Amino acid sequence: MATQLSEAALRDQRSQFHPFTSITDLMTDGPTVMASGSGVRVTDVDGKEYLDGMAGLWCVNLGYGRKEITEAIAKQSERLSFFHTFNGMSSDVVAECAEALLQRAPVPMSRVFFGASGSDANETQLKLIWYYNNLRGKPEKKKIIARWNSYHGSGVATASLTGLPGMHTLFDLPKGPIIHVSAPYYYRNAPEGMSEREFSRQLAKELEDTIEREGADTIAAFFAEAVMGAGGLIPPPEGYFDEIGPILKKHDILLVADEVVSGFGRLGTYWGSQTYGYEPDLVTSAKGVTSGYFPMSVCFISPKVWNVIEGAAATAGLFGHGYTYSAHPVGAAAALAALKLIDDLKVVDNVADVGPYMLQQLQDKLGQHAHVGDVRGKGLMIGIELMKDRGTKETFPMANRTGRQVLKAAAARGLITRALGDTLVFAPPLVINRAEVDELVEKFALAINDVMPA
Ligand SMILES: *Cc1c(COP(=O)(O)O)cnc(C)c1O
Repeated sequence: MATQLSEAALRDQRSQFHPFTSITDLMTDGPTVMASGSGVRVTDVDGKEYLDGMAGLWCVNLGYGRKEITEAIAKQSERLSFFHTFNGMSSDVVAECAEALLQRAPVPMSRVFFGASGSDANETQLKLIWYYNNLRGKPEKKKIIARWNSYHGSGVATASLTGLPGMHTLFDLPKGPIIHVSAPYYYRNAPEGMSEREFSRQLAKELEDTIEREGADTIAAFFAEAVMGAGGLIPPPEGYFDEIGPILKKHDILLVADEVVSGFGRLGTYWGSQTYGYEPDLVTSAKGVTSGYFPMSVCFISPKVWNVIEGAAATAGLFGHGYTYSAHPVGAAAALAALKLIDDLKVVDNVADVGPYMLQQLQDKLGQHAHVGDVRGKGLMIGIELMKDRGTKETFPMANRTGRQVLKAAAARGLITRALGDTLVFAPPLVINRAEVDELVEKFALAINDVMPA
């Protein structure tokens, strides 16, 4: 976004194919190239400093430059830089990390399975679910229900699960036995005058109707984020998980909690499922587990699923799934250091304090702005949805790219946000303090007014 592109930006622009990036924008504006980070801030190659309102990509929960993690990584790289977990192999640090994770699970879990990304972890969950139902003699029970606006990853199966048409159309997706039901998007999709509770009941009814139509004995699992992230920052309406939980249980459908973002404190409890009080059968996590210092993902497997898999092991033969970098010892060392910091710094308590404060500040400063339709969120996952007319909920024309204009104005003022259409989102490091929140809110309010004077 600099007027004159740096050497690094030019080099990047002519050589890198960027994920989730408009090539046209990249060629016009150039990439923003970061060089260093400390605490909640990053600095680009031109020396401009930004408050990182997105913790990288919802992951640098403990902030940048944490010596405890970088030193753990350095030490482990020197001691044992790699070993694998195929064929019954392991490493001491991995064993310790697996145990530490199980101790922190939202509900009693039997095992963890490691990977390197949220996408590969959800691919693991899908395969585990199919494997489990084959082993317990239910080969017809294979369909997966996910929701529109959900984000579960970028693989062929996980992008299919994801409920974003932009990730389907030109890739011939979705593929596989996947069914999408409505997003719990109260602000945009609830009929005029309907309460959140009633909307939750309506969504539960849709789920139940879907299960009846397809046949419960054909449906294996339901995937859900606690608060939808990349699909528009959508918290569930009141009572949503209370309504759908019993329906899934009744029909013997596994509940997979995608806690890739919500795990490790982001919503003000250790897990998102604890914020909303539901009990998952499988949990996927990634991003926050190493605070983004090393690529690592974790699948948590409940006794219900594990006991079937273990019970059938003698006849099923070896478990034919895994990644070279499953349970990387350097990742395990990074995770152990991050887990300790989450405890020592009382990070979850900080989110429970600063999250509601930030939401309130944004509502106070922007809630009455003519083009701010909705300010919503939970913990440190907050979205601001812009509207051409907040009264009638008329959106800006897509071609205006209003969200992107605000994002650029914020960047010019030294604040990183993310535009999901016209919803601007914040998911700052979980160690952010009130003064830094004040700065974030002030810069953001100025950026909104740069683009759309009140
Ligand atoms: C980021 C994300 C994923 C995918 O994780 P990657 O590490 O990018 O593969 C899956 N689920 C949710 C909820 C996410 O936010």
